[in-house]
Amino acid sequence: MGLFNDLGRKVEELKQEVENASDEEATHRCGACEALLYPDHDECPECGEPSVSPVETE
Ligand SMILES: [Zn+2]
Repeated sequence: MGLFNDLGRKVEELKQEVENASDEEATHRCGACEALLYPDHDECPECGEPSVSPVETE
C-alpha cells in the first residue's frame, strides 16, 4: 500500500500547487459569486455575470 500512499500524497501536493498558482495569477474577481478570474474574461465563467472587476494586489 506504500506506493498508493506516496502517489496520493503527490497528487495532493500537485493540487495545492495548482491552487496556489491560480490565486497568484488571478487578477479579476466576480462581484456576484466571488470566483477568482483571469484578465481575459469579460464575464464570469462560473455564473455568467458581467460584474468582473480587477483584484487589488497587495
Ligand atoms: Zn461569478
